[in-house]
Amino acid sequence: MQEQHHRPDLAVQRVRHPLKFRLLQVKQVRALTPHLIRVTFTGDDLHDFVSASFDDHMKVFFPEPGADKPTLPQAGPDGPVFPEGKRPTARDFTPRRFDRDAGELDIEFAMHDAGPAATWAAQAKVGQYLGIGGPRGSLVIPTGFDWHLLIGDDTALPAIARRLEELPPGTRAAAVIEVADPSARIEFTTQAELHLVWCYRSEIDTQGGTRGAALLQAVRDTWLPENGEGYVWAAGEAATMRAVRQHLCGERGVHKTRIRAASYWKQGAVAVHETLDD
Ligand SMILES: Cc1cc2nc3c(=O)[nH]c(=O)nc-3n(C[C@H](O)[C@H](O)[C@H](O)COP(=O)(O)OP(=O)(O)OC[C@H]3O[C@@H](n4cnc5c(N)ncnc54)[C@H](O)[C@@H]3O)c2cc1C
Repeated sequence: MQEQHHRPDLAVQRVRHPLKFRLLQVKQVRALTPHLIRVTFTGDDLHDFVSASFDDHMKVFFPEPGADKPTLPQAGPDGPVFPEGKRPTARDFTPRRFDRDAGELDIEFAMHDAGPAATWAAQAKVGQYLGIGGPRGSLVIPTGFDWHLLIGDDTALPAIARRLEELPPGTRAAAVIEVADPSARIEFTTQAELHLVWCYRSEIDTQGGTRGAALLQAVRDTWLPENGEGYVWAAGEAATMRAVRQHLCGERGVHKTRIRAASYWKQGAVAVHETLDD
């Protein structure tokens, strides 16, 4: 797939937003599956919240042990200023749904064994406090591509679900998603013509350190249209995303300007976020 310059409507735009930190309160907690918890937040601070893209992320700040509210940084001229120079515990999450009129923001947490975010989500209760910073910027990927391919694991489900809701009627879209087992599947609301592929991690994959093998194979097996302008968005575990991007750009002719691949987490490391490029 060669980069086409005669379609300015397909230019990916970067948008900056003023840095703001907001204190939010839990309004509702709902387990969508045994593996995914949706928390609805509310708070006056949301009145000027902006999220321009499904690809956005916010820093989520958790209360330190024993505290009921998180310590939030101040927005300084050169970025965040941390109280007493100490960085509070924070992780990256996707603004899954924002409803300005209702003053509600949803975040969906993929459950896993350990870590402050997963631990917080597992105990989340109405009335508790959390902080968010950002989004500081958005990568706005036009919806007008001839086809869209969305790839990811549990951590990408909120972004993929939001993108599918936002795509206009009749858009050609495929989603290839790896989760633990069929109980982790969610329903998507979309007007796109969706080709959906779920694949499942096996215990052997996870124990043998080859997590992501099922997703990579499913991407290999996915047919890509030869004609038209397409865009690939992929997010998930770092090594898997690197392999997915290499396969698509190296073996399937996807132009590097037509793919956004990001590490949303990294096996054995905490709080990792990398955009993958050459
Ligand atoms: C831009 C962006 C958007 C994101 N959006 C979302 C989102 O909407 N929902 C969401 O659930 N996650 C999302 N993530 C991923 C999330 O930030 C990471 O999974 C984060 O590490 C979770 O923090 P934690 O405190 O639970 O675990 P950490 O303290 O960061 O990690 C503890 C241990 O758990 C492992 N680990 C981390 N995440 C997972 C996982 N999902 N499965 C298995 N093991 C894991 C780590 O390798 C580490 O060994 C996003 C990440 C980025 C960069």
